[in-house]
Amino acid sequence: MSTPPPIAMLAELTHRCPLACPYCSNPTELLSREDELDTDTWVRVFGEAADMGVLQLHLSGGEPASRSDIVDLMQGAHDAGLYTNLITSGIGLTPRRLDALEAAGMDHIQLSLQGTNADLADWIGGYQGGFDRKMQVAAAIRERGIPLTLNAVMHRHNLDDLDRTIEMAVELGARRLEVACVQFHGWAADNRSQLLPTREQTEAAKRIVAEAEARLRGTLAFDFVPPDYYADYPKACMGGWGSAGLNVTPDGTVLPCHAAQTIPHLRFQSVRDHPLSEIWYKSDAFNAYRGTDWLPDTCQSCERKEIDFGGCRCQALAIAGDAGATDPVCSKSPDHGRVLDLLRAAAEPEAPMQWRQPARTPA
Ligand code: SF4
Ligand code: SF4
Repeated sequence: MSTPPPIAMLAELTHRCPLACPYCSNPTELLSREDELDTDTWVRVFGEAADMGVLQLHLSGGEPASRSDIVDLMQGAHDAGLYTNLITSGIGLTPRRLDALEAAGMDHIQLSLQGTNADLADWIGGYQGGFDRKMQVAAAIRERGIPLTLNAVMHRHNLDDLDRTIEMAVELGARRLEVACVQFHGWAADNRSQLLPTREQTEAAKRIVAEAEARLRGTLAFDFVPPDYYADYPKACMGGWGSAGLNVTPDGTVLPCHAAQTIPHLRFQSVRDHPLSEIWYKSDAFNAYRGTDWLPDTCQSCERKEIDFGGCRCQALAIAGDAGATDPVCSKSPDHGRVLDLLRAAAEPEAPMQWRQPARTPA
């Protein structure tokens, strides 16, 4: 079967970020400024992405506004013909910079929300005054009429605030609200027992989102990502490995998903050395878990194999110790008992929460 081109690319422009969220999906070994691709290389990669059929470009980080060349990067992406979405905490986006980004062709902003009030948001984000600055940026986005998605990463400490989160999304003029229960990759994996919502919180969140979706139809659209630890079956991670999207890390390494570098036997190639299309179509890492031929026996005989493709490879590695295993969150997985053990451990967390630390600078 021939491989279709990717639809979306996530460009992690930098790992630098003024915030320190304990659920950050960046790797625990953060890259420093010196490791980052320069402006010209990123713009070349945006052109290669557009040439191979990518439609949407998500400019992310870290905090993408930490790049002093963010406006040039936006312009380069726009000139390549890509639909551009800036994924940001808002910190570092002054009204002047917003104007420049709009003039450079920014199509959409996805603003993260750490909490619905300053006490909670600044505690989670590890950044005093961050909430107030974010609210100023949100007002400036609204004034300019820039299409806005609010991205609320939800966990045990803020899921009870979901009603207020939805109200805030409407007040801020967002067109879409992502209620994304934390996924346990990167820093979040080290904080799993502190962050995992309870089953009761998860059930309440499903009810609240369903009710709000019906009430706010035409005003606010919802993307709800429940924690899959309480589900019977896993999600199709990235819509299937190497099937719809790719990530480029700050140093140019191309990955099928955020956490793929945790899989030790795969060698991921860089845009510094190879064209993007060669990496997507021909690299061993992208072909390792494409399609369904590689699936383990438990999945091969399952009617859902074309729906979830066996779930998440990084989760299979993290929990079952084998990236080629059935995702252990699946109730059919022989390793499902390990997820139940994690749920029991999360009921009485022992380790304190760890906030994200800055990248080590080279000696
Ligand atoms: S999750 Fe928090 S710390 Fe990580 S990049 Fe986003 S805003 Fe920064
Ligand atoms: S057995 Fe495999 S294909 Fe079936 S639901 Fe579980 S993870 Fe998906």
